[in-house]
This record gives sequence, C-alpha cells and structure tokens, in this order.
Amino acid sequence: MKLLLYITLLWGLMLSNVWAELRVFACEPEWAALVDELGGERVQIYSATSAYQDPHHIEARPSLIAKLRRADLLICSGAGLEEAWLPMLLRRAGNGKVQMGQPGHIMASEHVALLDQPQRLDRAMGDVHAAGNPHIHFDPRRIATVAELLNQRLQRLDEGSSEYYQRRYEQFNGRWQQSITQWQLRAGPLHGARLVVHHKDWRYLFDWLGIEQAATLEPKPGIAPSAAHLASIKRLLVDNPATAVIYNSYQSDRAAKWLSGQADIPAVQLPYSVGGSDKAVDLFSLFDDIIEKLLEVM
Ligand SMILES: [Zn+2]
Repeated sequence: MKLLLYITLLWGLMLSNVWAELRVFACEPEWAALVDELGGERVQIYSATSAYQDPHHIEARPSLIAKLRRADLLICSGAGLEEAWLPMLLRRAGNGKVQMGQPGHIMASEHVALLDQPQRLDRAMGDVHAAGNPHIHFDPRRIATVAELLNQRLQRLDEGSSEYYQRRYEQFNGRWQQSITQWQLRAGPLHGARLVVHHKDWRYLFDWLGIEQAATLEPKPGIAPSAAHLASIKRLLVDNPATAVIYNSYQSDRAAKWLSGQADIPAVQLPYSVGGSDKAVDLFSLFDDIIEKLLEVM
C-alpha cells in the first residue's frame, strides 16, 4: 500500500514536471484553436468568447478577470475589436505577464497589414472599426503570419520545450500552406461573386478570394441595420444584383432574411469562428465549411 502511494506521488511529480503547462487566455476561438495547434499538450487554453458571441461586445465578467489573472499568455485580434472590454479586464486582472509590451501579450492585428485603415481615427457614430478592420482571421495567409509569431512567443515563454513547439509549428505550417493552395483552387468559382454582408467581418476572406462586397446591412460597422438603409440596398440590387446575403453565427438573421425575401437571393449563415457550425471544429474545417457553404449558393 505504502509502495503504491509512493509510486503515485512520484508519478504525479513527474507528470507535473513533464507536462508543465502555459496558461493561455484567448479573446476569440480562432486564436484558441491556433494555440491548440502549436502548443498541444503543453498549453492550457481558455477562450473568452465563443463563435456565437459578438467579440466587439461582451461583458467583462469576474470569471474572465480571474482567468486573465492566472494567464501566462494573452492572444487577441486587437485593432479595437476588444476595445469595449479588454482594457478593463487587463486593468482589473493586474497580471504583469500579459500587459502590453510583454512577451505574454499578443495582438494579432499588430503583426499583419490591416485593411480599411482610416486616414484618421474617428469613432464617431459608434463605428467599431475605427482603427481598421480587425477581423483578420478570415485570411489564412495572415493566420500563417500570426502562427510564426506565436511559435516564437511560446518558445520564449517555455524555453525548456522549444523543440516541441518548433516541431509542432513546422507540422502545422506545412499542412496549412498546402490547405491554402487547395482552398484557393476550390474557391475558384467564387472569384468575382457579389455578396451582401451583415457586417464587414468578411473583408479579409473577400480580399483573399476575389469576392466583391456588394453592400453591408449595417450602415456603419456596429450600427444595427435600419429600415431606410435596407430599402436602399434593395434598390441598389435591382440594377446590380448580388448572389447571396451572408451573416455569421452570432448575428441575428432578421435583416438578412428580409433582404433575401425582397431581392430573391439566398441568405447564408457562415460560422464566425471555430465552433460556429457543426463542421467547423478546428481552423482547417472552418475554412473548408465556409468555402463549401459559399459554393453551394453559386
Ligand atoms: Zn467588426
């Protein structure tokens, strides 16, 4: 009995040493999924939002503060996407490791080129994209850039496991680059399509695949669709029709369904992130699913 207890204790010690974990706080599920790809069993991941929550607006709950307080690494989209809640979380968590400027602080958008960058910062009328378009995770090439940076940071924060992270990164990147080529081929028929979107969250996907954004149901990013604005889109589509209207997993389908009925085009719901549809279970299947759903309405 004593021997068994001893073995159990020893085993426990070995495990805690071998499987020492980095605690990661991801603002959105796409970054949690990327950390999972690169960090494997060396990381313990918490995602502050799901694909069914609007990352522009979530409540800074005490449970989130507690999670951030214990984190070794923070990874978010940045560019103002989390402006309404992350600064307060960072202040309340009081965790030096994840503050701006530390290796444990990653704002993905600071490491890629941003689209829709304004001439001057202006949050007038509630524009939630005042610093440029923050939805960079819909471009897999930009995700590759973030993955490269994340690999460096993981190795820096957990030096003893450097080789482990490097191996996982190389495996991931090989698969990812191959997938990008396949997605581009598969999405060929989408090139030149005109799609109406609820919010400007598809900007990077469209830029990558050559899709045209015909109109946005929101008059400005973050401003709910109004009857007058929807009517103007309906008029616009008479002369210049669109293929479909798309909305994401956390948005209401009301405006999209209305336009779908009025303009006689399909309304398609796409996953906003990993977990936003039955099929989107990781970053690879997220893009598979989005492209397949768009091809279905072409
Ligand atoms: Zn947005």
